[in-house]
Amino acid sequence: MIRVRFAPSPTGWLHVGNARLALVNYLFVRRHGGRFLLRLDDTDSERGSAEFAEAIGRDLRWLGIDWDETFRQSDRRDRYAEVAAVLEKSGRLYPCFESEEELRAKREQRARRHLPPVYDRAMLRLTAAQRAAAEAGGKRPYWRFRLSDGHATWHDQVLGRRQIKLPALSDPVLIRADGTPLYTFASVVDDLDSQVSHVIRGEDHVTNTGVQLDLIAALGGAAPQFAHLPLLLDEAGEKLSKRLDGLSLRRLRSDGVEAAAIAAYLARLGSSRDPVPATLAELAADFAFSQFSTSSARFDMAQVRALNRKVLATTGFADVAERLPAGATEAFWLAVRGNLDLLNEARGWWDVVAGSIVPPVIDGEGGFLREALDLLPAEPWDGEVWPRWTGALKERTGRAGKALFLPLRLALTGEDHGPDLKTLLPLIGRVRAAERLRVAAA
Ligand code: GLU
Repeated sequence: MIRVRFAPSPTGWLHVGNARLALVNYLFVRRHGGRFLLRLDDTDSERGSAEFAEAIGRDLRWLGIDWDETFRQSDRRDRYAEVAAVLEKSGRLYPCFESEEELRAKREQRARRHLPPVYDRAMLRLTAAQRAAAEAGGKRPYWRFRLSDGHATWHDQVLGRRQIKLPALSDPVLIRADGTPLYTFASVVDDLDSQVSHVIRGEDHVTNTGVQLDLIAALGGAAPQFAHLPLLLDEAGEKLSKRLDGLSLRRLRSDGVEAAAIAAYLARLGSSRDPVPATLAELAADFAFSQFSTSSARFDMAQVRALNRKVLATTGFADVAERLPAGATEAFWLAVRGNLDLLNEARGWWDVVAGSIVPPVIDGEGGFLREALDLLPAEPWDGEVWPRWTGALKERTGRAGKALFLPLRLALTGEDHGPDLKTLLPLIGRVRAAERLRVAAA
């Protein structure tokens, strides 16, 4: 049974890097059948975590991702304590009392001797009497996991064979002095208890995987498969930061990016294939880890906009109606949808169609525009008014092509490019068109 989990820490808004991992988990499980778990890694929770947790759910649903089960780590503290007791009993978890300053001093000392900054395990040699003395002095221990010698090795679904040399790492702290478990530990307990079959996450967790495999073995658990996706960088080639609101899903949504465009973009990002508009079902149908490159990917907003444009061009009115300006009609949407990078741009075209824009005065075109006004057909207008009008104008003035159309477009819309005037002009209507021709001719 395939079981995957997406495990965000609710300490910020979901950004495109997290969303990509959620999506890859989701597509994988939809491709092969199985269950998708949403786990909130909130043992470390800071202020605002409930709000962020809710926002994460909202953002995932917006992307079209739903989950079969969900839980939060803060509800499982008793379970972590139980498992920690087992590890302690087996001698793999040991109490430590060194302060941050003491540890820093040790690292500096090692650096001077050209040794790597690995924890020296001094506390493994702590006697019962020393421990009692420390506790009598009011200190509470935190707990480290004694790593094995040798290597942790796995076959990564994306990166291929991977190996971590465990003695090159410090024994990780699993439990803080206040009893709260750290991610490394809680995640392993959860993955085992919830029978996760595939851990799909970012490449920044590769070293953790070495540690966690050792921990899984110490607990007698069965290791899941691992797939680490190379990091996603921003346009400047920098790591994405959670606190960077610019690439959060909520920001992209409020900027008018379609969920379908983001999903299609993120699903193909860092893979050998170009992004094309596609539903989640279509993306799932051809999902494969083998398509991902092993080098980092760059999030490129220009590509998102280009994809968004393609998505909008085929989006039906019903799917956007409530996000369009009040009063916008289906005819309006069909006229403008092929000309938008972002949905928000529809507002400008709605002003052109139904508002009172003031076109620029077009130098040297006064005479031509007055002729155009003169020939502007009487209402009622149908879909043929534009060719009829410009045909007559062409005959009268001898103009053709750009010389004929550009001044009209500028006068009618205030823009030098945009939707087909054949569809736009009937929506603008004669009163507005005549007024704008007058203003632009003045
Ligand atoms: N909460 C961890 C993170 O956001 C989860 C990592 C994992 O998937 O194990 O990085």
